[in-house]
Amino acid sequence: MLRSILLKLSESKGFSHWVTSNAMTRRMSHRFVAGETLEEALQAARACNDAGMLATLDYLGENVSTPADAQKARDAYLQIFDRIAQEKLHANVSCKLTQLGLDISPEFCEGLVLSIAERAASYDSFLRIDMEASTYTQRTVGLVTHVRSQTPAVGTVIQSYLYRSEGDIKELLGVGCRIRLCKGAYKEPDDVAYPRKADVDGNYVRLMRILLPSGFYHGIATHDPQMIAQTIRCAAENQISKDDFEFQMLYGIRTDLQRRLAERPANVGFILRNFFR
Ligand SMILES: Cc1cc2nc3c(=O)[nH]c(=O)nc-3n(C[C@H](O)[C@H](O)[C@H](O)COP(=O)(O)OP(=O)(O)OC[C@H]3O[C@@H](n4cnc5c(N)ncnc54)[C@H](O)[C@@H]3O)c2cc1C
Repeated sequence: MLRSILLKLSESKGFSHWVTSNAMTRRMSHRFVAGETLEEALQAARACNDAGMLATLDYLGENVSTPADAQKARDAYLQIFDRIAQEKLHANVSCKLTQLGLDISPEFCEGLVLSIAERAASYDSFLRIDMEASTYTQRTVGLVTHVRSQTPAVGTVIQSYLYRSEGDIKELLGVGCRIRLCKGAYKEPDDVAYPRKADVDGNYVRLMRILLPSGFYHGIATHDPQMIAQTIRCAAENQISKDDFEFQMLYGIRTDLQRRLAERPANVGFILRNFFR
């Protein structure tokens, strides 16, 4: 129930306005949002880099209803790539297709994504397409596969709570796609997603074990010490270097874990202790 309420609030413009205009909630949201302006977000990315971490910047927003709003989002993403390059940051970009007009027209959306991916490629950088609710999964996999045939600077996200994810991973690996693995954040019906956390976690480990030895650079996105420990174990078993994949976490969440993973070589012991606790 809590997840449903939070998801509803996240879609409410009135609630968003209240959060950003109220002094107390603004202070609270600042812990999790890198900034309200691009310059603030760049500073936060710089701080991550200085702490030994890479960054990915997301211009928050989804489900635009006019082409003009989608083009505005595209322009914002082009500018983010330009500024990342100017500032020589170790950072790339993540975006949502519904923010780039997927609900308006898939062809229009693909044109915008291609222009952003080409800008990413021009800087030898990378554009990640976030995965949204399951009603968008097929269209997202299709669009990413198509854009990838024109530029390799694009990848996407797979959610371990969906039954279909192993098939999607195999299809995406077939075209050399880089994948971020996460558990999944949306409220999904039982006929498309595992309802039990244990099954979502079990599938996460199974999918991670397909991704890690695949030879492509993937992102293992989780704050769950058990998933992290399983990933470290899989990497050790298969002699996969820590430079061949990355852990990803959300800004401001489990900063203790983020710091310790960035600090080497103490990280593995810390994670394993958490795993057994
Ligand atoms: C980099 C990144 C990108 C993502 N992109 C997408 C996407 O494109 N599409 C999508 O659907 N979802 C995305 N997600 C969200 C993801 O699907 C999960 O909803 C979210 O990460 C919570 O799952 P978890 O793996 O952290 O573990 P959970 O099973 O939620 O939690 C396991 C344990 O992790 C720790 N933990 C988890 N969350 C917190 C917290 N907020 N504060 C403190 N401790 C915590 C706790 O110890 C908890 O018991 C992304 C997540 C990350 C990190």
